[in-house]
Amino acid sequence: MKALLSIDYTNDFVAAEGSLTTGVAGQVIEKDLVRLTKEFIDAGEFVVFAIDGHDSKDQYHPEQKLFPPHNLVGSQGRELYGSLAAVYEKNQSKSTVYWIDKRHYSAFSGTDLDIRLRERGITEVHLTGVCTDICVLHTAVDAYNLGYQIVIHEKAVASFDQTGHDWALKHFKQSLGATLL
Ligand code: ZN
Repeated sequence: MKALLSIDYTNDFVAAEGSLTTGVAGQVIEKDLVRLTKEFIDAGEFVVFAIDGHDSKDQYHPEQKLFPPHNLVGSQGRELYGSLAAVYEKNQSKSTVYWIDKRHYSAFSGTDLDIRLRERGITEVHLTGVCTDICVLHTAVDAYNLGYQIVIHEKAVASFDQTGHDWALKHFKQSLGATLL
């Protein structure tokens, strides 16, 4: 069984005016990312939206020192970008579509993702979203350590750092044994 993990494809990370945006690199993957998401939903596969949710009062959060405020809970910046928003809205009531508020880079850190996947017998996770070398990378590393097979959809991940993006793709394949599609 397989699942699709949709990571951080929000206005703050993708829109031109987003506070931590991947810009054009993030915008050009919209079509492929949305198509894949729809394919998984239509096939009845488990689709998880693992989305950063920050609180400006969270003074102990390590990202406070690293990045400008982003994906604040309740803000427009945290809403899904472009046509992915409508796909989520239309399908959110399905039992196969699941939303996770994550606090760290990895979708597994401090969340119930691992147990949700295991109770469905899922052994293979397909990763899409941003950023390739931060949240997608940390999620992939945790998935690897937990024993999942990893599939990275090259045309559905992006970063604001092209060098980091390229390095991460190589790392997924060579060190995490991921399949790149
Ligand atoms: Zn964050």
